[in-house]
Amino acid sequence: MMNAKVHELLNQQINKEFYSAYLYLDFSNYFKAKGLDGFANWYMIQAQEERDHAMLFYQYLQNESQPVTLEAIAKPDKTFECHMDVLKAGLEHEEYVTSLINDIYAAAYDVKDFRTMQFLDWFVKEQGEEETNANDMITKMELFGSDPRSLYMLNQELAARVYTAPSLVL
Ligand code: MG
Repeated sequence: MMNAKVHELLNQQINKEFYSAYLYLDFSNYFKAKGLDGFANWYMIQAQEERDHAMLFYQYLQNESQPVTLEAIAKPDKTFECHMDVLKAGLEHEEYVTSLINDIYAAAYDVKDFRTMQFLDWFVKEQGEEETNANDMITKMELFGSDPRSLYMLNQELAARVYTAPSLVL
């Protein structure tokens, strides 16, 4: 029997991850409109990864015979003055998601729900990578963003990102 609080937080995380996908689609849309297709590609793949994350939480609850309740996904409502605004919103969002994963982990720890903790271990590591990626994007934009030729090269680099399925399989 899963603890009610742990269940509630896991169920909420499905929605949070789908919102993340929505947010990154919005980022992709921003860059597409600016003619930076490489950046648009990078965030499109990021959105795909977030859908995968949502489905992992969904699948985990189903595997544990727990009810799943799907809620409305919020509208991405950020406005961006420049490319850097988008990248900083990305880092801020990933730091927020890390705090959510940590909160679920803490709730599971409190009730000795070791199975959920083991499931979440993958996400703890994943969030470390997400924050590193978001920081790297900001660093690259700081270094190359102001020079059009360098920005073009960076855009080409980001165009090469390809989707890979998550290493966690339930
Ligand atoms: Mg995620």
